[in-house]
Amino acid sequence: MRIEVDKEKCIGCGTCQEICPKGPRIWKIKDGKAEAGNLQFCHVCTLCASKCPVGAIHVIRDGQNGEKEKVSEKD
Ligand code: SF4
Ligand code: SF4
Repeated sequence: MRIEVDKEKCIGCGTCQEICPKGPRIWKIKDGKAEAGNLQFCHVCTLCASKCPVGAIHVIRDGQNGEKEKVSEKD
C-alpha cells in the first residue's frame, strides 16, 4: 500500500498526524506539508484521508492482480 499526499492541497494543519493511531510514527509535517513514512505501522484505517480538511490524502491499497485500489479518497 502507499499513501499519497497532494502537496498542492495540503495546508499543513497537522490533523492527519493528530488523528492517526500511530501519529508521529507515520506523519511528519515538513516545510508546512505533511509526509507519510514508516508505512509498516499503518493499519489502512483511512482516518487520515477522511479527516483531512482539504482531501489531500489518498490511501491506496495494493489490490489483487497487481491492480491498485483506492480505498479512500475525498474530493
Ligand atoms: S490533514 Fe491534510 S491538510 Fe492537514 S497536514 Fe495532513 S495532509 Fe495536510
Ligand atoms: S490509514 Fe490510518 S494508520 Fe494509516 S496513516 Fe492513515 S490514519 Fe494512520
